[in-house]
Amino acid sequence: MMNYCFGIDIGGTTVKIGLISADGEIITRWEIPTRKGSDPAGLLQDVKNALETCMAEKQIMREDILGIGMTAPGPVTADGVLQNAVNIGWGAVKLAEEAERILGISPVSIGNDARVAALGEAAFGAGKGANSMLMVTLGTGVGGGVVLNGKILMGESGVAGEIGHMTIDPYETETCGCGKKGCLEQYASATGMVRAAERFLQEKDTESVLRNLKQVTAKDLWDTAKAGDRLANEITDFVCDRLGSAIANAIYLVDTEMIVIGGGVSGAGQFLLDKIKKAYQGKVFAHSRNKKFALAELGNDAGIMGAAVLVLSKVE
Ligand SMILES: [Zn+2]
Repeated sequence: MMNYCFGIDIGGTTVKIGLISADGEIITRWEIPTRKGSDPAGLLQDVKNALETCMAEKQIMREDILGIGMTAPGPVTADGVLQNAVNIGWGAVKLAEEAERILGISPVSIGNDARVAALGEAAFGAGKGANSMLMVTLGTGVGGGVVLNGKILMGESGVAGEIGHMTIDPYETETCGCGKKGCLEQYASATGMVRAAERFLQEKDTESVLRNLKQVTAKDLWDTAKAGDRLANEITDFVCDRLGSAIANAIYLVDTEMIVIGGGVSGAGQFLLDKIKKAYQGKVFAHSRNKKFALAELGNDAGIMGAAVLVLSKVE
């Protein structure tokens, strides 16, 4: 008999589903559209249909499924409640219980999406073999997670590792999506980088290729910096200085073996990594400077792989 689990990654536009073997191999993966509503019932019904189709096709029995791991698109408190999933429109919900009831498979384990992706990277990606890891995801927002001894730190109120909303500039006048002012996300997310670029372009009169672009994207900014543009390098240095501060602050708390950078912006690669590392090194004690910085490796699979780890780590 083979054992499997399902890893389910609930995103704002699609739900990614993976059938994963007990040794962590993805057997098959696919996506369904995210059904939005005031509660998860409709979406879970779609997931149920998808899982049943998959099991019928692969001739897998219910008893071969060890469990289901699921990412939750918001903070999950220690009592297992997904607090608010603003992107999808749900209020507070006991997602694991609700999923067990509708899917008819148990156990269902849930965790915040950024935390679960970090767990996936730690087990199967860039952090494989490391004892501890801090992951920072640079995308539409800035997410994060801390993995210590193979376990993800979930926290009591669900915000452990939420580096994106660490206050990095108490004098900021604009407001973050979370309602606070001066969060790391306001500078280091893709949109934050664009905002920083716009500020620099307005306030300085340095020549720059960026001035020829109608609308600067985060990718433009990094490509231009790589090509040697002076202003683009000043902007990316500014962004990485803030990122380096936040990472250094986090390291003073959790002192992980390595730091993994993921998310869409990490497409800027080694150039980005070097800038973040340099900024970080200027803000920590000498003996903490030589930590390993690596790019995430699992891409879009980090969520389903991490979700599988939520299940498999309980079985072992
Ligand atoms: Zn914030």
